Amino acid sequence: MPAVAEVMSTNTPRPAPRGSDLPTCPVCADSMVAAEASAFVADNVISYLWSCDTCGYGFVTKHAVKRFSCN
Ligand SMILES: [Zn+2]
Repeated sequence: MPAVAEVMSTNTPRPAPRGSDLPTCPVCADSMVAAEASAFVADNVISYLWSCDTCGYGFVTKHAVKRFSCN
């Protein structure tokens, strides 16, 4: 019977609930805070325009959203 009690102290960082789906700047890796603009490019695809406050790089992300059934 092995008396090995190896406790793995995994220091898992807590994922930020709000920062998880926020993009980061591909240039300086700074985290984006809020999208500058958003627009629907399709029925269920929305695109966000981001601009980095640190380096000024702008990029667009696209997200699939569920179609709202409003009746
Ligand atoms: Zn940047």
